[in-house]
Amino acid sequence: MGNGGRVQLQRERELIAEFARRLRPDGLVIGTAGNLSVRSGDLVAVTPSGLDYDELTPATICVVDLEGRVAQGRCRPSSELPLHLQIYARSDTAAVVHTHSPYATVLGTVVPELPPIHYLIADLGGRVRVAPYATPGSQELAVHLEVALAGRAAVLLANHGAITIAGSLVRAYSRSLLLEWLSALYYRARVIGEPSLVGDEEVARVGRFLREYLGTDRDAP
Ligand SMILES: [Zn+2]
Repeated sequence: MGNGGRVQLQRERELIAEFARRLRPDGLVIGTAGNLSVRSGDLVAVTPSGLDYDELTPATICVVDLEGRVAQGRCRPSSELPLHLQIYARSDTAAVVHTHSPYATVLGTVVPELPPIHYLIADLGGRVRVAPYATPGSQELAVHLEVALAGRAAVLLANHGAITIAGSLVRAYSRSLLLEWLSALYYRARVIGEPSLVGDEEVARVGRFLREYLGTDRDAP
């Protein structure tokens, strides 16, 4: 164990274990297809591979460096860790939530973007882009992610799932819930007709208001 045996990123690991246990009841994952991470300095705490979410405790959360090397104890990080590291390498975001949530995943196979169906999409930075499919962890996907996430806090991954980012795990997680809700809203609206949309200028205005009201400048996309 490195660092003289001191437990690293304890608070981050507690948070990840807490939110990972919420993934299933919140309808964000099927099976164990979902993973969370938090960066602190040059270390990242991330959910482990192959463990049931209900079994997760702070001690089971992996700590890795920015190259993905396990920094403490014996641990097998999520197989989707490269996805998280690619985002940390290209932005200064502090938390990443990745899921295969049902409606967001459906939309990613059909539409080129999630349009402003509701004003709250402002919290995601506006229209949510769909990153074209590429093998998870590949350099190709890293490039797609960078393009799709520019100025945004969320992205749909074609034929894969969804990602949200924020300055804190609490906020990244709430954005995943929002993205899934917006995706379901859009899907349902399209079933019965062509939904009306909120203008991009109005979304930008609401975004400014949310940042002022919530004091989330640090978390802004
Ligand atoms: Zn995935």
